[in-house]
Amino acid sequence: MHGDVQDLVIAGSGVAGLSAAVYAARADLDPLVLEGDEPGGQLTLTTDVENFLGFPEGVGGMELIQRGKQQAERFGATFEHGRIDAADLEGRPFELSLSTGETIRTRALVVATGASARWVGAENEEALMGYGLSTCATCDGAFHRGDDVLVIGGGDSAMEEALFLTRFADSVTVVHRREELRASEIMAERALDHEDIEFRWNTELQTIHGSQEEGVTGATLVSHPDGYPKEKAADGVDVETETVDIGGVFYGVGHTPNTGFLEGTGVELDADGYILPETDENGRPTAETGVDGVFAAGDVADPNYRQAITSAGTGSMAALDAEDYLESIEESAEQTLQATV
Ligand code: NAP
Repeated sequence: MHGDVQDLVIAGSGVAGLSAAVYAARADLDPLVLEGDEPGGQLTLTTDVENFLGFPEGVGGMELIQRGKQQAERFGATFEHGRIDAADLEGRPFELSLSTGETIRTRALVVATGASARWVGAENEEALMGYGLSTCATCDGAFHRGDDVLVIGGGDSAMEEALFLTRFADSVTVVHRREELRASEIMAERALDHEDIEFRWNTELQTIHGSQEEGVTGATLVSHPDGYPKEKAADGVDVETETVDIGGVFYGVGHTPNTGFLEGTGVELDADGYILPETDENGRPTAETGVDGVFAAGDVADPNYRQAITSAGTGSMAALDAEDYLESIEESAEQTLQATV
């Protein structure tokens, strides 16, 4: 156990956590940032960020994160490996049990743990994840020079992955369970117009073939003209099945918020597990949660916008709210002391 009680622990080191760390460190709160399972968060899996204000030429995702970390460290934030496995948020201070086996006590907590890539439930995916199956084209695309690859999904992530993979792969086929993309118009157009990208509509990935030694060698796809073929097959409807030779599969099917450790703690979550922040007495947004002293920032509380710039914004809100909270508990402790003297 850390001997001291921290004023502020920030769980997560993506844009939201780093922005909270910069604000909190500048306010002399000496925040401790727990880096989590995916240090740096999702921006480390992105190539160029073109829509973060202040970078007219764009900026590399990894570079933006490294610069943010340096900025937070410059003002006194410290960083530690580990994720929160369990949190006791009933008592004061809070007690956080980490994946490293350590226990940390803190007066306030900012949860900026983000959301992790979803898997589709294809046969063999557990064995082949990291062996030709990936959730990150930016990380693993370069391993697929000259391969034919599949990208699963119909949203912006899938379009981005497909476009990126055309740099390396011989052919890229987007496999989407419906015949309409969910992606924004601009991303959809770029992918649809790209000569090296093909689309398989109303199709799903059933099985991935290969081994950890050989990598991915093929995939079995199922199709039905009305879409959602796996559901149809499970209901006993006839679907078309085809096995294709491919050298890689990339999942781009969205994300799940990292809030398992908050279940049953009093922090309110929506049906998908995203934190529901509180509003103030005038109904305006805050970073507060259902537990006093716990604040939320970034994608973990945002299934809608999920942008780097909005995460930076809510990170700053969480730090400001945490600062107010810490001041208020200090004031009430002083008042109690004066009343007892
Ligand atoms: P998303 O918008 O939720 O799209 C997920 C896609 O995966 C959907 O097309 C969905 O199909 C499909 N899918 C989900 N589960 C599946 C399963 N089990 N099997 C097969 N397909 C499945 O997620 P996202 O693309 O990650 O985007 C999330 C947010 O980030 C969006 O707001 C997006 O605009 C933003 N984003 C922006 C950029 C950019 O602007 N450069 C890049 C990435 C993400 P259905 O359509 O049938 O539901």
